Amino acid sequence: MAKTKRLMSKTVRAVKRGRETTQGFLAGHQHFRSNFFQERTFLKRLAVEGQTPKALYIGCSDSRVVPEYLTHAGVGDLFVVRNIANHVPKRRAKDLSVGAAIEYAVTVLKVKDIIVCGHYGCGGVKAAIDGLDALTKQVELKTWLKDLVDSVDKAKASGLTGDALFRRAVEEHVLDALDDLISFSCVREVLDAGTVHVHGWVYDLHSTQLMVFDADTDAWVDALKLQK
Ligand SMILES: [Zn+2]
Repeated sequence: MAKTKRLMSKTVRAVKRGRETTQGFLAGHQHFRSNFFQERTFLKRLAVEGQTPKALYIGCSDSRVVPEYLTHAGVGDLFVVRNIANHVPKRRAKDLSVGAAIEYAVTVLKVKDIIVCGHYGCGGVKAAIDGLDALTKQVELKTWLKDLVDSVDKAKASGLTGDALFRRAVEEHVLDALDDLISFSCVREVLDAGTVHVHGWVYDLHSTQLMVFDADTDAWVDALKLQK
């Protein structure tokens, strides 16, 4: 086995210490390898032919909001970007990660749909409501969440308070993220051509409802009611 030469010694120690803590995940992987043999042909075809996902999904990193789980999507269906509070930094913002994924999904993978999915109870949105000055020890997080303040201010303008304000801020932030998608020229082009559609979703952790923004009525509608 090749000896690792590039890691710093501190990193090597951290990797060694981490062997025990991931045993559960590795056991899970063993289960995956031994139980998913019936899907091997499909997985091999994906590996050989490459991916052709149907949609770009931009969602929160929250461990409870798993896109494949709540949409029953399969391997290869979704090109996924997850970050804190499903944020889409505008083009030319300091962050390049989301923009690079958007460009790749739209211009190379040629996805047909772009979904931004938030969730009620989002910790990132809550932090923006409570005030980012409280994040004295999380400077990266504080900077990341600054863009959410606009969404929160829009929600506050509605006069709502408490949980209703929290829910409205989550919804406003998803809609702002949809607008921010359009700051990317590649997205503007496919929207003008009518080849890609954008979708705003909010997932409810308690009820497991998925709410979908309906631009016709300017309202959030239970996904089950939109099914044909
Ligand atoms: Zn979240």
